[in-house]
Amino acid sequence: MPCFTNYTLPELEKWFVDNGMKKFRARQVWEWFYLHGADSYDKMSNLPKKTQEFLSENLPLTQSFVDEIKIAGDDSEKRLVKLSKDNEFVESVWIPMGSHATVCVSTQVGCPIKCSFCASGVDGLERNLTVGEIVEQVWHCSTAHTRRGIKNLVFMGMGEPFLNYDNLIKAIKILNDENGLKIGSRRMTISTVGIVKRIVDFGNDVPQSNLAVSLHATTDELRKKLIPGCPSSINALLSALSEYYRTTHRKITYEYVLLKGINDSLGHAAELAKIIKKVPSKINLIEYNKVDFNDYESPDKKTTDNFSNFLIKKGIDVAVRRKKGDDINAACGQLRRKVRN
Ligand code: SAH
Repeated sequence: MPCFTNYTLPELEKWFVDNGMKKFRARQVWEWFYLHGADSYDKMSNLPKKTQEFLSENLPLTQSFVDEIKIAGDDSEKRLVKLSKDNEFVESVWIPMGSHATVCVSTQVGCPIKCSFCASGVDGLERNLTVGEIVEQVWHCSTAHTRRGIKNLVFMGMGEPFLNYDNLIKAIKILNDENGLKIGSRRMTISTVGIVKRIVDFGNDVPQSNLAVSLHATTDELRKKLIPGCPSSINALLSALSEYYRTTHRKITYEYVLLKGINDSLGHAAELAKIIKKVPSKINLIEYNKVDFNDYESPDKKTTDNFSNFLIKKGIDVAVRRKKGDDINAACGQLRRKVRN
C-alpha cells in the first residue's frame, strides 16, 4: 500500500486526481500533516467525511511511531522510532540550541560500513529506509516541539546516506517544501564515509546543502581498519571532493574522531594538515563516544589541545566537538543495539 510520507506534493496531487479526488485536496492534507502536525485524517476538519474515510483506508499517513524517548541531562532527546513495516528500529536525536534545535536522522537500519568504533554497523545492514521513514523522523520531532523551530538537519544517524541515495534526495525535497516543513537545503548537512560517485552526484543534485566527510585517518591502511566498508582511497576521495567544490563552491567539513594512541599524534596532525589543505574545508575533531564492544579511548585533554593547536597554526579552521547526550547512548546505533539485545 502507498504511504503519504513517501511522496512529494506534485506526486500526491497526481495520486489524488487518479483516485477521483480534487487536486487541491492533496495540498490540504499536506498542510494539515506537515504544518499542523495532524496525525489522522479525521482531524482534518475541512475534508469531506467520505474523503477522510477513503484516505484512511487507502493512504496511511505514517509508517513509523516513536517507541521511546530518552532525555539527557543536557536536554538532548533521543527517539527510538519503530518502523511499522517490520518492527525494526532507527534512532533520531533532537539537540536543542537556545531557541532552535538541530535534528539528527538515520538513513538505514543498521549500516554496511562497519566502522570499528561505531555501534550502528555491528550487525551489518538490515535495509535501506524508505523516503517516508526518513521524513517521519523529522516530523516526529517537529510535532513534539512546535514552538522550537528546527534550525539544522544533519544526516548523521545510523547508516551511510549515500548508499540510500535516491531515497535521501527525495526525502530532502519533501523536507524542503515551501508548504511543508520548509527546511532549507543550506541548513542540511549530509555526512558520508566517502562514496565518490555520490559525492559528485550530490554536488549536482543538491548544490546548496553541506557535505561532511568522515576521514578519521590519514593513510588508506589505517582508514581501512577504522572504516572497513569504505570503498574509496583517500586520493579518489580528494578528487571527488575537488570536483564537488568546483560545482558547489561550498567548503567541505571533515570529521575526525580522535582515538587514543591510534590517530592522535602530532605526526598524524601533520599528515592531516596536508590532506585537508587540498580542498577548501574545515575540520571537526570529534570526541569519541565510548561504546561497550571495543577498547578505544579518547586522548587526554592535553593531547587533544596539542593536536588541535597544531592544525590551527597551519591555518586550518578547526572545531573540537564535545559529545552530547552521553547518558542516553546518543552515539549512532547505541540505543537500537541496546533494545535489540
Ligand atoms: N555513515 C556516515 C554518517 C553517520 S555517522 C558517516 O560515517 O559519515 C556520523 C559521524 O559520527 C561519523 O563521523 C561517525 O564516524 C561518527 N561516529 C560514529 N560512532 C561514533 C562514536 N562512538 N564516537 C564518536 N563519533 C562516532
